[in-house]
Parts: sequence; C-alpha cells; structure tokens
Amino acid sequence: MAASASPDSAVARVIIENCAIATVDADDTEYASGHVVVAGNRIESVGAGPAPEGLDGVVRRIDGTGHLLTPGLVNTHHHFYQWITRGLATDHNLFNWLVALYPTWARIDEPMAAAAAQGSLAMMARGGVTTAMDHHYVYPRGAGDLSGAIIKAASDMGVRFTLARGSMDRGESDGGLPPDFAVESLEGALAATEETIDRHHDASFDAMTQIAVAPCSPFSVTTDLLKQGAELARRKGVRLHTHGSETVEEEKFCHELFGMGPTDYFESTGWLGEDVWMAHCVHMNDSDIAAFARTRTGVAHCPSSNARLAAGIARVPDMLAAGVPVGLGVDGTASNESGELHTELRNALLINRLGPHREAALNARQALRLGTYGGARVLGRAGQIGSVEAGKLADLVLWKLDGLGHSTIADPVTALVFGAAAPVTLSLVNGAPVVEDNRLVTVDEDAIARTARAESQRLARIAAGG
Ligand SMILES: [Zn+2]
Repeated sequence: MAASASPDSAVARVIIENCAIATVDADDTEYASGHVVVAGNRIESVGAGPAPEGLDGVVRRIDGTGHLLTPGLVNTHHHFYQWITRGLATDHNLFNWLVALYPTWARIDEPMAAAAAQGSLAMMARGGVTTAMDHHYVYPRGAGDLSGAIIKAASDMGVRFTLARGSMDRGESDGGLPPDFAVESLEGALAATEETIDRHHDASFDAMTQIAVAPCSPFSVTTDLLKQGAELARRKGVRLHTHGSETVEEEKFCHELFGMGPTDYFESTGWLGEDVWMAHCVHMNDSDIAAFARTRTGVAHCPSSNARLAAGIARVPDMLAAGVPVGLGVDGTASNESGELHTELRNALLINRLGPHREAALNARQALRLGTYGGARVLGRAGQIGSVEAGKLADLVLWKLDGLGHSTIADPVTALVFGAAAPVTLSLVNGAPVVEDNRLVTVDEDAIARTARAESQRLARIAAGG
C-alpha cells in the first residue's frame, strides 16, 4: 500500500458489538456489553457499548447479543500425527503406552501426516483455537516431506501455527524407548531442523508460521542433540520446546542415566531460558519451580493427557505464584482423544482443585488466561496475540452462551469455563473467518473426517503387516 494512502480509509473493517467481552488484558478488563472493531488483520478498538458511529470501510457488522467475545485460544502442545492412532493402549501409563505405539507411529508417511494434521487442526479450530502448535518428532526414513505437509494443513485452514520440529536420536539400542528405525542421526536431525527453519520460519509481527527446535524428550534424545539443538535455536533466533518432568518414571530414568533430575539436566544442557517452553512439568519440586521462574522458562499444562496417562497433577498454582509462564496444551490425541482445547480450560481448573490448593487453585478467569494470554506468552507471541487490545492481531472468538448449555449461567466467563463446551459462532484468525455458526468455513470438515479415517485404517494395516 502506498505510504500516502490513509490507512483509516483504505482498510476493511468488521464490527462486533452487543456482546460481553473478556479482554484478558493486564487488568482483566471486561465489558458486560461492548464492541470490537477489526481493521484488516488488527484490532483497532475495543470498549463498552456500541462501536463508534461513522467508521469508513465497514464490510460487516455482527450483532453479538447472547455471546462472549474472548481472545482466540492458543494451544501450546500437541502431536498432530496421533489423530490417526486414537483410542489405542487406553489403559497404559506413559512408558508402556509409548512402547505400545512407537512401532505403529514409525510407519507414518506424508499422506498420513497431512490427514492427521487436518483432523487435529479442524477439531481445535472448531472449538476456538486460533493459534495451534504441533510437536512433530517422528520422521521415518523415506516418509516424505512431513513438515511441509503439516505446515500446509495449517495454512489451508487459516490457523496461526508453530511447528516444533522434533527429533529422536536415542533408539532402543542406545537405551531409549523408540525402535531404532524410527530415529534420526544427530547430524541428520539438526540439518533437517535447520532447513525447516530456513524454509518456513517467519519472524514478522503477524507471522502465520513459526518454527521451534524440539528434540522429543530426555529419554528419546542424546545429550548432544539437546545441547546442539539449543545452540541451533539460539543461532537462528527461534524458540525451544520439549517434554519435561512428565512422569515419575522419567525422573527415575534421568537420575539413573545422568545422575540428576530432569530440571537440573535441562539446565546443564542449555534448556532453561525465556525462549524455552516445556510440556507437562508434572513432577517439579520447589527448586525446580524456582529455576523455571528465575529463567522464565514456560510450561504447557496438559491436564487431560496427564490424567489419561496417570502422570499426576502439575503444580500450576505454585508455578503461577512463582511467576512461571504457563499455557494450556491438548497434547497428542493418542493420549487425549477429544483433541479440543476449550474443554481444557475446565479440566485445568477442576484437576488443579484436586491438588493441595483445593478451591483456591484456579478460578474461571485464571483458566481463561492460561488458554489465551498464557499460551501466547509461552509461544513468545504475547506482544501480538492472546488478549483483545487495540493494535494486536485480530484473533478473536465469539462464543454462543444463550443456548441450552449456558443460558442459565449468569456470568459469561463462568459459563465458558465451567459449562459445557460452548459453540463458536465466529472465530477470526488474522481478521479472517475460520469458523461461522459452529462450522469450519476454510475447509470441508466431513471430507477431513473421511480422509483421516482412511489414512488411519491404512496405517493400521501397514503396522499389522510389520
Ligand atoms: Zn506430548
């Protein structure tokens, strides 16, 4: 656009008004009935009452009566490929579950990764996720361009996306859990990760695709891969992600192999820092939490997956009190079959209330913050998304709260968090609609379900054939 053009008159505006608004800004500002003006891909204004009169370029005006508007949800941990291996090993703990599923996962190829990514993304986007992430670490030899297929699926859906390019280089013969044929070499993993960053990472304010460096976990990668992965991420200016302190078995494994617990091991390999976020962090003592707070290392809290795999309850209230950045994660759908994030707001609140802080553990507004601003902070994007504030990107969700599921719950944030999974009347990502009236508008949901089923059956056949 020419510098002389007035941005005020040249841009298309969308007005949403007459809705409750939870901005999740620093003051938790809320409006019982307010408006948001979207100009292009940015939020231009938010406030009480109807939108200002006389705005130019208004292409759409939405009556949000009976709705709550919030920032779009931000998912901070997932494994898309697991969409095609849901409902297996349902009564296993983490290590037994991994051992049961790795031989199947090791058979994935590019069409399977694409179909699984579409399914995972569709399920989340339909439930109000506007920023997704995929921690993908299974790259079997000759499987095709899995990273490219996953990134394309997010781009086709119109969802903001971080691919955490994972890796494993510690196979069974090196004392790891994955079969040897499912792991990469140290050099191969680093080179492929660097190439993915060079090809796909966008550092701009309104980036739709970012890449992080993401070795899978302490028990599936070597110390060298952790150390050199951290060096690569810092050289490239991208973020670092991995699994940490998920189970008691992992803690035992770290003590046996490295002579220290997971947090000390991460610190010794360069894996604590404000550019790092870690999934789970269930088994953390006070000094672990203090180390995360001191280094501003982020946490992706995945309550349903932790319950499904009997991993335990992460100490989220203690982390928040210490100042640790915390977001929410679905985790892979082989350990959280629902694959939705809006229900994780409720599960985070309920599961943490089963811990020592009881009813004071989390409230509805804290849960909403975890799923929005907290996630944005963990992904390094709190300046751009995660709250409804003028100048930020227009990633917004309009939740329908006047239907059967919610109409008798007076407070809209309570209705969203404590109530049934709320229908999404409108979801905007970067100012563009992704969901309208509870249906995806960028992709064909039914076609995605059919393709994912076919790829799931193909994978099962290949895995059974050995
Ligand atoms: Zn995970």
